[in-house]
Amino acid sequence: MSNPCINCGKERIDGKTWKGKSGISTITYTQTICPDPECQKIVDQKTADRKAKSELLAKGKQEAKLAREKLMATA
Ligand SMILES: [Zn+2]
Repeated sequence: MSNPCINCGKERIDGKTWKGKSGISTITYTQTICPDPECQKIVDQKTADRKAKSELLAKGKQEAKLAREKLMATA
């Protein structure tokens, strides 16, 4: 299974693994990381940026929805 790094294209390696519960079964999660730690830092930054952006977008959508509902209520 190929899992290249989004930044440099190198094959990603297994990083942190941890166990989580899903209902009654235990699932092992594996986080893959870039073999290049400097590159992984960049990837982490990109991921954080994207997450922040999508959160902002979701917040904006929520606010627009509320504003629309308010408008509907007063109309
Ligand atoms: Zn990389």
